Amino acid sequence: MSRHLQLGVLADHVLKVKSLDASALKHVDSCSHCRSDIRWLEQLGALREFEPPSSAVNGVIEAFKTRKLNAA
Ligand SMILES: [Zn+2]
Repeated sequence: MSRHLQLGVLADHVLKVKSLDASALKHVDSCSHCRSDIRWLEQLGALREFEPPSSAVNGVIEAFKTRKLNAA
């Protein structure tokens, strides 16, 4: 079996920055180690994608309100 793919290469693949070449795909196909790496990278990407930006916005609004009240 060929060497495992580097995490950066797998991340590029998951993030669709750069696709894997044929031999890399073949390796992933037969390697549970690299497949599990891809899985958690995908979950990481999904988390980042679905992170609600509203929570950050609300935090800023709350901070703004608090400051306003304190100033009044
Ligand atoms: Zn591997």
